[in-house]
Amino acid sequence: MKENLLYFFKPLNHFYGVGEKFYKSLERLLSRPRVLELLFHFPTGFTDRTYTAPLSHIQTGKIATLKVSVLKHIQPPFKRGKKIPYKIICTDNTGNITLNFFQIYDYIKNNLQVGKSVCISGKVESFNGELIMIHPDYIVPVENFDDVAIMEPIYPLTYAVNNKMIVSLVRQVLKTMPNLPEWQPEADISFSDAIRILHTDFSNEKLRAKAKSRLAYDEVLANQLSLALSRNKVKEQCETQIKTKGMFRTALLKSLGYDLTNAQKRVVGEILTDLSSPLRMLRLLQGDVGSGKTIVAIIALLEIAEFGGQGAFMVPTEILANQHFETITKLLSNSGLTDKVKPILLTGSDKGKVKKAKLEAIKNGDANLIIGTHALFQNDVEFKNMQLAVIDEQHKFGVHQRFELSEKGGENRANILAMTATPIPRTLAMTSFGDMDLSIIDEMPPGRKIVETNLCSQSKLQQVISLIQTRLENNQIKKLYWVCPLVEESEKLDLTAVIERFEDLKKTFGEMVGLIHGKMKPDEKDNVMLDFANPNGKVKILLATSVIEVGVNVPEATLMIIEHSERFGLSSLHQLRGRIGRGGDKSTCLLLHTDKLTKVAKSRLSILKQTTNGFKIAEEDLKLRGSGDVLGIRQSGQIDFKIADLSEDTDLFFAAMQDTKNILATDKGLLNERGTNLRLLLTLFEYKEQLKNILAG
Ligand code: ADP
Ligand code: MG
Repeated sequence: MKENLLYFFKPLNHFYGVGEKFYKSLERLLSRPRVLELLFHFPTGFTDRTYTAPLSHIQTGKIATLKVSVLKHIQPPFKRGKKIPYKIICTDNTGNITLNFFQIYDYIKNNLQVGKSVCISGKVESFNGELIMIHPDYIVPVENFDDVAIMEPIYPLTYAVNNKMIVSLVRQVLKTMPNLPEWQPEADISFSDAIRILHTDFSNEKLRAKAKSRLAYDEVLANQLSLALSRNKVKEQCETQIKTKGMFRTALLKSLGYDLTNAQKRVVGEILTDLSSPLRMLRLLQGDVGSGKTIVAIIALLEIAEFGGQGAFMVPTEILANQHFETITKLLSNSGLTDKVKPILLTGSDKGKVKKAKLEAIKNGDANLIIGTHALFQNDVEFKNMQLAVIDEQHKFGVHQRFELSEKGGENRANILAMTATPIPRTLAMTSFGDMDLSIIDEMPPGRKIVETNLCSQSKLQQVISLIQTRLENNQIKKLYWVCPLVEESEKLDLTAVIERFEDLKKTFGEMVGLIHGKMKPDEKDNVMLDFANPNGKVKILLATSVIEVGVNVPEATLMIIEHSERFGLSSLHQLRGRIGRGGDKSTCLLLHTDKLTKVAKSRLSILKQTTNGFKIAEEDLKLRGSGDVLGIRQSGQIDFKIADLSEDTDLFFAAMQDTKNILATDKGLLNERGTNLRLLLTLFEYKEQLKNILAG
């Protein structure tokens, strides 16, 4: 069996006709010049060479394959400035055809010596009443007629490789391709046959579709299976079962002043089940902006506190850390838990004695709910008994960082709850975060008003300013956000623009404008933010770069102005828009854009006008920008599917997920007959790590 599998990993220079030069080109074409890569290099179409007819009756304008014998060669006469072809006249005894060569080589002359019988293939045309063929695609001995008269696949090519070379190499490789034992017992086309069909059989569209779908399923199944194996392995690394009476939870829920939505209740249930099970929790909580993820996280953290452990709540910005700290402190005091749960805030701005005291409290367990930024990762942070790491806005952290924090749990790796408001299309979530279980809050708290979204040219800025002035005076607006883009590549320029806008707005609004951007000191930022969040604060207009994108909650804010919105990703705009519409009042989002907006850019922005459904927006973003951009993890070794398509083959992904569950339920070590065959599948699709580290044997 091993040998059969090894065939697929054979370098292509083991095959006839692949010299050093061809091999180099194959390297360029396939990146890894091995059998498997060649076989997955599928044709994009085909040339029909099956047509043949006697020359007396042949149709012109078609590609034909003909048996002819050579009558004579005609040297071109020399004429200045005119290119006259070298002509070779051939016959099939019913008529003649002239082969025209604008470039002639000795080997062509040799292959077509007068009197020889040959098979030629190419487009037959008529010229001055004569039949001609310009540079035949094939000139081969007659006995090879059947090899030429086929549907010829057309391959994507690169420099110094022509189609004929690939066709003949693929044929050679297919001839000796072995069969592999079946890992899809239900499939009616085998792995090898599916490959063969896609390279050679162009007549039956239905069969081709079936073959492609078989291979796509192989690819998706390998992906899902490998992710599930990693997930199971990681889950086994936690032995603490968190079981409580739920007293803290009950006290909190009583004091909230609102009921959890059904979606929140369901997710809380999923989390509690995970925590109380002997396996480690690895859960991704997805919920649109404003869907109420924070309270769910707090419930989980209180559960840990009641059990006697420590929980960490990590967020990407200091503003957000402050806000969560305040929310939690208030909730604890409302629910009478102040003496039981001790929250602490740790950020990069903590220095000296204060920092030392906080670190001590974390180490000796005095603090049992630790809220912080990246600062929580640092080496000097030691926990006494960390049992849950909540990572808010997890897409702002690297994919690997989400596990780093949980390592602080020591021997017993902590449970992980990662949260994101970036609605990830389901298939993308399954493949990128498939190593985590997924919970979704798909319901908004009641009473939310839909935010009205409008597009407006940047040139109408003065009108916008006057409108704001009137509305503020009439108390129709209490607070508003004004966002300017800040892109890393042109950071300096953008920052200047933000500060200019600040000076500009101050002329009209004076002290009512507050400025906040990433280059400011944390406490400066906090002061502005606190004033803005305070209903009685003097800051009414918060001028900001996209630092406010994540998490901030100011229910009085009902207007969001975004300058040069064409420079933002759709999902970012959706997140920004999620900052408003949080109170009872009607909210409006105004997308200012350059006058020179292209049609495409305009229709892109219009998507936001049409829908407030984050998933739809993310799917559009996926189509427009590709998966890496949507997740913001382009560099993190995202899987590229060769055959399956993330946005089209959704059904296959779900089927493979189900299949994986069934497989591992009965054979979690992949040891029975199908399991053994599935190991071959994992090897074929390069999931070696999983085989080596996770599976024994
Ligand atoms: P996000 O999911 O974007 O993090 P938050 O957790 O910040 O959203 O919640 C947004 C707002 O909704 C907060 O002010 C929160 O108090 C409120 N909220 C959360 N759940 C509910 C609920 N079930 N009913 C009413 N309001 C809620
Ligand atoms: Mg949030």
